[in-house]
Amino acid sequence: MAKRDYYDVLGIQKNASDDDIKKAYRKLAVQYHPDKNPGDKVAEEKFRETTEAYEVLKDAKKRAQYDQFGHAAFDGPSGGGYGGFRGYGGGGGVQFDLSDALRAFMNNVGNDSFFSDLFGFGGGSRSRRGGGHSGVKGNDLQVRLPLTLEEISTGVKKTIKVKRLDRCGECTGTGSKSGKRATCAKCHGAGRVRHVSNSFFGQMIQESACPVCKGDGEIVVDPCSACGGSGLRQTETTVSVDIPAGVAEGNYITVPEKGDAGRGGGPSGNLMVIILEKEHDRFTRHGIDLACDLDITFSEAALGCSKTIETLEDKIKLKIPGGTQSEKIFQLKSKGLPELRSKNRGVLLVHVRVVTPEKLGKQEKELFEKLASLGL
Ligand SMILES: [Zn+2]
Ligand SMILES: [Zn+2]
Repeated sequence: MAKRDYYDVLGIQKNASDDDIKKAYRKLAVQYHPDKNPGDKVAEEKFRETTEAYEVLKDAKKRAQYDQFGHAAFDGPSGGGYGGFRGYGGGGGVQFDLSDALRAFMNNVGNDSFFSDLFGFGGGSRSRRGGGHSGVKGNDLQVRLPLTLEEISTGVKKTIKVKRLDRCGECTGTGSKSGKRATCAKCHGAGRVRHVSNSFFGQMIQESACPVCKGDGEIVVDPCSACGGSGLRQTETTVSVDIPAGVAEGNYITVPEKGDAGRGGGPSGNLMVIILEKEHDRFTRHGIDLACDLDITFSEAALGCSKTIETLEDKIKLKIPGGTQSEKIFQLKSKGLPELRSKNRGVLLVHVRVVTPEKLGKQEKELFEKLASLGL
């Protein structure tokens, strides 16, 4: 697959400032990070691609090389002197794989308080509420939403069923029958414990939620029987989402606070709705363009004809001129898919196939023989 332009990958202009580049990367890296999209290959590739683009564009020297030579700037084993990317196979550009991307991301995290907060490395993800009681943010959830091309063409409002942890109604989320709580003996009320680990990146001191109180800093004295003291219960709710026209497989829509409810009064996580595309029986998608086949007979090809083409949204007449060859492609302007958040629409490519009759009756055979005698 051809490598995409780094500016396109980050969704920025060629003259973007360093700050624009950083902002674009932050947004995409958080959206596509594998921790947030476990097992999702599309997200994984986006994360890898985004990080690769950022590693080049954040560095003034590499960016200048890229602006001048494109991807060729980093071609080959010694290409451009960029030691961070490994060449593969020679001549095929460079490959920056997922482990490179995760490593680069870790480095970026270390230098950026924005990421530290988001991923909880700095212990900043706890929220405090009145009286010094702490809470822990709920998990983000993901649902996959398959859409038809018709729905993608117009945009659609969808109602999705989501299994999420919600506050227990019996104990109003406190986890306790009486509301009595005691300080956690393990973390002495801090809610977090520290541990030292030796990892690939060297020795790291990490803080994580206390395993006993799950970050609350307090434990329930008389647990609620409905939720077992967690304050949360598995529920199924419906969430409605507006899908804009022109989305593509792998796009995400984040619905704030529709993930799992937080513990101990912490905020709810977000719900990420991942777009999938259902296969269409007539159209194939190529970006914003669509393609379909149109079968015509020998005589229609020779004499010309008028055919009704069902597009995604309406029907239109297509004039096939006499003398049309098989494999000819007609372009129907603006009958493809809309571009996301734009007024542009792609084209519909109609691929003509002249179909040879497989069984001939007596009369048809005679007529074809007559045509053959005329040199046709
Ligand atoms: Zn604890
Ligand atoms: Zn309860």
